Amino acid sequence: MKNTKAGLKPETESKSRLLLNWYQNNKRPLPWRDQDNVYWTLVSEIMLQQTRVEAVKPIFLRFIKRFTDFESLAMAEESEVFFYWQGLGYYRRAKNLHQCARQIVKMAGVPKTKDQWILLPGIGDYTASAIASIAFLESVPVLDGNVIRIATRIFGIFGDPTLTGIRKEIKKRVFEDLFYKDSPGDSNQSMMELGATVCLPKNPLCDQCPLNSLCFAYQNQKVSDLPELKTRVKKDLISLSLYLFRDKDNKPVLGTPWRGYQSDYIFPVWVEGEAVKKYRYAGYFRHNITNYNIMAHVYFEDLEVIEQYQALAEPKSTLLLKALHKAVIYSAA
Ligand code: SF4
Repeated sequence: MKNTKAGLKPETESKSRLLLNWYQNNKRPLPWRDQDNVYWTLVSEIMLQQTRVEAVKPIFLRFIKRFTDFESLAMAEESEVFFYWQGLGYYRRAKNLHQCARQIVKMAGVPKTKDQWILLPGIGDYTASAIASIAFLESVPVLDGNVIRIATRIFGIFGDPTLTGIRKEIKKRVFEDLFYKDSPGDSNQSMMELGATVCLPKNPLCDQCPLNSLCFAYQNQKVSDLPELKTRVKKDLISLSLYLFRDKDNKPVLGTPWRGYQSDYIFPVWVEGEAVKKYRYAGYFRHNITNYNIMAHVYFEDLEVIEQYQALAEPKSTLLLKALHKAVIYSAA
């Protein structure tokens, strides 16, 4: 089995092992699967973001034949990258992939961790987790629509999975009971594969499912009730300024003048007018929390504060990672 380290965790062995065994015997043969090639993993994950596997296969093969590695993709003209992307649509992905390759060849080495990958163009939480776990064995579970569907059904998690509390519960149960930490790449792929081929949104093939005897929804005739996707409640849209700067001890901090949000550092409101003058504007991004849709505008002091943050090993909040991502892209442009 690829991506497997020795040692089992008895408490998580049952469901995760069943799923892994099923995956080994039933996974679809895909060109990028079991290849131990981080470039192929990146290209396939970006192509699969909004496109079906069957549509991606021939285009992936044509693409990696022409652009064989990060270097050859980085050196190509954008127009040629777009040419080889034909058939997939959403050309923004091709642009981001191209930029990714250009940034990676300038780095000292290929990024390894989820926190490093998420700072590159077009790489979100899901893609960063998938690459870090498949190519570098980092123990980070992925959470996409497929995984959310199988988890809510297997564990009987009711409530709207787009809500923060329910999502946290799903994440916790997946990490504790479905994710096989000693084989993170295959484990993530086993969950995604089950969701894509067996635990389908409509008419799942429960009689072929390796977890049917342990599945709450199947055992309790609740399969069609889960996940409980509720009609979206309209949230207030607010604008928020975020500042990446160094404090008096020369430590990097994220500041915001909005006291309603729990950030690492609360900027006194009166500072904002002064701060805007000496900060660079890196752009904006959307960020959703329970009661608000936030339009976050990112300002940063200088390149050094970004580098200081990148060098920090400690875990970073999603809001901070998104802000850093914006500042990195702005600085690289
Ligand atoms: S038994 Fe059915 S509902 Fe439960 S995880 Fe398997 S396919 Fe999904």
